[in-house]
Amino acid sequence: MSVIQRISTRKSVAVVAAAALVFALVMLIARGDSSKAEAPTPATSVIILSGDGMGIQQRTAIQYALYGLNKRQPMDALPYTGFLDTIPAGPTAVTDSAAGATAWAIGKKTINGYTGLGPDKKRVPTLLDIAKEQGKTTALINDHDVTNATLAAFGGPVIERDWKSVIADKEIYNNKVDILMGGNEAYWYPPGNEGKIPNTNKDGEDDSEGTKGNLVEKAISQGYQYAYDKDTFADLTGPQALALVQDSPKRRWIETKGYDFKTDPHYVPTVDLVKKALDIADNNPNGFFMAMESDDLDSAGHEHDVRNVIESGKTVNQIVTAVQEYRETNPNVLLIVTADHETGGMTIEDWNNGETNTNSDGDDPIPYWAKKPLNNAGPNGEVPIRSGPVTIKGTNRKFKVDWTTGEHTGGMVPVTAVGPLAEEMVGVHHNTWVFDVAKRALLGQE
Ligand SMILES: [Zn+2]
Repeated sequence: MSVIQRISTRKSVAVVAAAALVFALVMLIARGDSSKAEAPTPATSVIILSGDGMGIQQRTAIQYALYGLNKRQPMDALPYTGFLDTIPAGPTAVTDSAAGATAWAIGKKTINGYTGLGPDKKRVPTLLDIAKEQGKTTALINDHDVTNATLAAFGGPVIERDWKSVIADKEIYNNKVDILMGGNEAYWYPPGNEGKIPNTNKDGEDDSEGTKGNLVEKAISQGYQYAYDKDTFADLTGPQALALVQDSPKRRWIETKGYDFKTDPHYVPTVDLVKKALDIADNNPNGFFMAMESDDLDSAGHEHDVRNVIESGKTVNQIVTAVQEYRETNPNVLLIVTADHETGGMTIEDWNNGETNTNSDGDDPIPYWAKKPLNNAGPNGEVPIRSGPVTIKGTNRKFKVDWTTGEHTGGMVPVTAVGPLAEEMVGVHHNTWVFDVAKRALLGQE
């Protein structure tokens, strides 16, 4: 290298260094303006949205299938991103939904199976209780069962997540949860009372099995409006509303020949439940707290069905879009989108005819309505139909998925957020951090 060349190289290094310094300063100033979301106030609202079982691979599969490679899906387009651990209190390494959601609800890791109670089984305020105390409207919404473990962690603390009617009873006790929307009326009506939604499932999932009497009647006597189909749902105005308008519709779609949820008068899409809840809660100047979940996403993982993972992901993205539309005129809402755990050990793999699947009798789950596994790999590892192929939207590329287990797995899960204190979700945190941040938002503390 000649002297002249060396000098010019040094010069250009200096120019590049100066430019880098300016760029860094500009970025620093820009970060100063944008790294913090708006501050919370006493009227701040909080929404926790869980895609049950929605790990990184599920989020990616949903992105690829529904939005392709360029347009970011709504739940991932939120401005702040982090990771949450999922491990419960001892003795296990992998959480269930009860312990996972309880970490968010009370800020303590607990034992699998407990909802809203710490390992000492003592009752402490949940985020829903704290919101109620602040005079906010409270809502629990599910695409499947409004008494399921995730929602019970907020509104129905018990030491056994399967005490469905006990949970339902607690949710309406003293009108604690203003808005309850989802499905599975079976736990709200006693045996022998079919309820409002006709039983179509021979295996009995829709048959009434309530253990606390007629809880729908009880709710109505306490002042709840009650909806059981599209028309009664349209009439809901609040402030208290119970809508049991989804009896496992997607499952019935699979299970019941000829069933089409689109023409079912008793089925209301989950995103419409959310829009209605926002409409009702909007009347309260103190704000609201809502916990909502796609439970079907977890079921799809347990059943090794990537198509239903993607269908449920559609629901999650529709909800995020609806909340973001609401936030356009009501920005004082913290939205946190995450998962309690991953389900199935799902992994995206390339689709080509030589690629085999490893799931076998040993780890392919038997769906609860079937007698044998329905999604086994073929004798030579052929990919079962419910594992792919899935086309990446806007391309001719395809992927399939493989699974390691019919159970939950123990990795971290992504969390994205927007609104007051959303920047606090950046980084790697315990899942209990959701409680810490959401509580501060509900109380209006910076
Ligand atoms: Zn599960």
